[in-house]
Amino acid sequence: MSKIPYPLASRENHPENSVVQVGDIQIGGKSATIIAGPCSVESRDSYVEIAIELQKAGAQILRGGAYKPRTSPYSFQGMGEEGLRIMAEASDITGLPTISEVMDVETLPLVAHYVDILQIGARNMQNYPLLKAVGKTKKPVMLKRGLANTIEEWLMSAEYILSAGNPSVILCERGIRTFETATRFTLDLNAVPVIRKLSHLPILIDPSHGTGHSGYVPALSRAAIAVGADGIMVEVHSNPAEALSDGPQSLTVEEFRRLAPHIHQLSDFCQPFFEEAKNARTAKISVS
Ligand code: PEP
Ligand code: MN
Repeated sequence: MSKIPYPLASRENHPENSVVQVGDIQIGGKSATIIAGPCSVESRDSYVEIAIELQKAGAQILRGGAYKPRTSPYSFQGMGEEGLRIMAEASDITGLPTISEVMDVETLPLVAHYVDILQIGARNMQNYPLLKAVGKTKKPVMLKRGLANTIEEWLMSAEYILSAGNPSVILCERGIRTFETATRFTLDLNAVPVIRKLSHLPILIDPSHGTGHSGYVPALSRAAIAVGADGIMVEVHSNPAEALSDGPQSLTVEEFRRLAPHIHQLSDFCQPFFEEAKNARTAKISVS
């Protein structure tokens, strides 16, 4: 028995892929999941309006930030509880589940009360008290990779959540810091097959933060599905030029409308490739 530092997250101890169920949606199931929404919730009317459009266009989970980790303390910090309340209303109207970032232990009960999936942001990937706290909740947690963290460190952070008693962990690759400046971050698509090999946890790709430019988001969204990700999370805004955060990387609703069916089609097309890989892995592990 090898000494794996992350026994609960490892595939060796859990050969089958994990599926995280959120309402009717299965993240890590047969088809790709699309999470979409603006970076931040900015007002009730704009959020409800875009939520309805996104639902019609093929989004399955709504995103929106209410507590925002901004580089500058002078930038918009999010609407706080009011933003969460707006997301809950949009969820009631559209029937779609929601995801929002929880930034600290203090606001965790509030965020957990209003949304269906807790997002741990890249900057908090190694906030161990927060990881332990979300591990004690019963809500699915989407753990983003830190912008300067290795895959092993990422899996160790997942282990914190799993070992605190919460089995519903979803990983999300959102780009890492490299010497490249043409894009905001470098989207590490290598992480998908590497995670597939090392872990049973579902993995999503966030091409919005991963590139920082809306023009690159459709190509990297398609690449994410082709490389075997369980889905994508993309930022969409009704008027990106006026967005209070991350406008340059936000798709317009029309761009999302064009992209979403391609993601679902690609997911159906690619599924047999990954089915085969999954069976091969499972067989190999059960022999040893
Ligand atoms: C976000 O999803 O809006 C966000 C802040 O992401 P990250 O933590 O990956 O920067
Ligand atoms: Mn953002």
